[in-house]
Amino acid sequence: MSAKPLPDGLQLDTLAVRAAVAKSQYGENSEALYLTSSFVQPDSETAARRFSGEEAGYIYSRFTNPTVASMEQRLAALEGTEACIATSSGMAAVLLLCMGLLKAGDHVICSQSVFGATIKLIAGEFGKFGVESSFVSQTDVAQWQAAVRPNTRLLFAETPTNPLTEVCDIAALAAVAHAAGALLAVDNCFCTPILQQPVKLGADLVIHSGTKYLDGQGRVIAGAICGPAQLITEKFVPVMRSAGMSLSAFNAWVVLKGMETLRIRMLAQSTAALDLAHWLEQHPKVQRVYFPGLASHPQHALAMAQQSGWGGAVLSFDVKASDTATARKNAHYVIDQTQICSITANLGDTKTTITHPASTSHGRLTEAQREAAGIQQSLVRVAVGLEDLIDLKTDLARGLDSL
Ligand SMILES: *Cc1c(COP(=O)(O)O)cnc(C)c1O
Repeated sequence: MSAKPLPDGLQLDTLAVRAAVAKSQYGENSEALYLTSSFVQPDSETAARRFSGEEAGYIYSRFTNPTVASMEQRLAALEGTEACIATSSGMAAVLLLCMGLLKAGDHVICSQSVFGATIKLIAGEFGKFGVESSFVSQTDVAQWQAAVRPNTRLLFAETPTNPLTEVCDIAALAAVAHAAGALLAVDNCFCTPILQQPVKLGADLVIHSGTKYLDGQGRVIAGAICGPAQLITEKFVPVMRSAGMSLSAFNAWVVLKGMETLRIRMLAQSTAALDLAHWLEQHPKVQRVYFPGLASHPQHALAMAQQSGWGGAVLSFDVKASDTATARKNAHYVIDQTQICSITANLGDTKTTITHPASTSHGRLTEAQREAAGIQQSLVRVAVGLEDLIDLKTDLARGLDSL
């Protein structure tokens, strides 16, 4: 079922294409897609041994599937972790993380700037079951330290954040977590292991929404947790088996193939985003650009050290406006004047997406909460894809130039 064994010490580019290729008896060169709900057992005794875990072997695709296993092993190889467990979505990965690590009375410290659904899941859903949580500044390590309680089990961060691209210091947060006897989990959706490997910086677990750059072409919803084999086997595999937030084999196959081009996409899209950020910073109708690759970014030095010298491919900017009502009107105008960019909240696609966070992803916040989070009505977020930069600039200039 597996290809000839790979030599040790391969580079990331090779692993992205070659790691964990599951093969059928036909010797196909592309990864096989095992689209089956269950696996036939040779006899009752073997079935009994497999069900009890005494013997390895595929049983049922809620807990084991060869295509899903390939995707898990390839992502673990890229993240530099021992193991990985795939989930049906990025949020299912956060759900599995919390179900596996937390019980009533435990405490989580989380950045207040993480993905909105993560905040709702931890504070709202897990709050219902007696899990305590504190939400602290993305960038002020002292706030994380001050939030530590005797029952703190987990620190959760995401870097850079959406949409303001704030960067946190992974190594510093890992130190706070470990001194408290807690684990640090980092959502690495924006950087992917190509730009940033959180475990190398001290994090214990890495969360992914495979929906974004890992798939990379906006086709499927997927997620994963990467980390030490013992944690994955003991804490997460049993929950997956009982709770079933499993990734479908088809979606795993799409993500598996997506990872083959992850590096060239990340580098091309990050290069384009840096160019676009410089161009926007010079535009007379742009107030401010938020992008870790710019020298003007407050955590530029940290971002460059942590993200292999890259800013990533997501940037935001405030359009100029005289007051709040005009700000919203101007931002909507710039977005609506585009003819190429897709008006959608997704990111990590080869197609550039453009969105107005204040009236979409952050539309459920009150005006005061939104101002506190720094997300103004003038803000536009662009997740840069693979189109020609000349065309993208023309697309954005259409609205900006006529404000
Ligand atoms: C999209 C996203 C998620 C959630 O992932 P889904 O696959 O949509 O469930 C989590 N974190 C970040 C940073 C995201 O961008």
